[in-house]
Amino acid sequence: QEHAPEKIDYVFKVVVIGDSAVGKTQILSRFTKNEFCFDSKSTIGVEFQTRTVTIKNKVIKAQIWDTAGQERYRAVTSAYYRGALGAMLVYDITKRQSFDHVARWVEELRAHADSSIAIMLIGNKADLVDLRAVPTEDAVEFAEDQGLFFAETSALSGDNVDKAFFKLLGEIYGVLC
Ligand code: GDP
Repeated sequence: QEHAPEKIDYVFKVVVIGDSAVGKTQILSRFTKNEFCFDSKSTIGVEFQTRTVTIKNKVIKAQIWDTAGQERYRAVTSAYYRGALGAMLVYDITKRQSFDHVARWVEELRAHADSSIAIMLIGNKADLVDLRAVPTEDAVEFAEDQGLFFAETSALSGDNVDKAFFKLLGEIYGVLC
């Protein structure tokens, strides 16, 4: 539920990154509005969306930033990462290349974001079971190796989306507070 602004205890900035077309915008829309929009990219120009949640009796406003297509031109700037406490690094379980690029995105985070940033690796489009190109074990291994949290989600069905965000926000809260 929404809360009056004066009741907010913390604002956590979270960035969503990953290759183009992996479902970043839809994950954001699922978490903040519980919507999936088949006519995507309606959010162009919108820098972030918010959802206010309660974790351990604290009211936390999650301010979640979308690249709004900039990743196509490798133009995600350090301003995007500034102040981010968490990152959702998304790949598409049906596109091997999007997973192969994850290491590059981790490097990008290590170069531009705060070293204490909490990172959640997300394998999205988990509803497309017959098209799977990335085995879950590969991602689990990579995540363990790099010290990332991991979840498979479907922005389409909504599966695991809230759970992944709550896990990341809970981790940020645990580190910070
Ligand atoms: P972005 O470029 O990473 O922001 O990707 P979008 O959010 O625009 O999604 C790219 C395409 O994948 C769109 O056609 C979406 O409808 C589709 N898509 C996004 N998430 C899912 C999902 O969980 N399942 C399926 N089947 N399609 C998805």
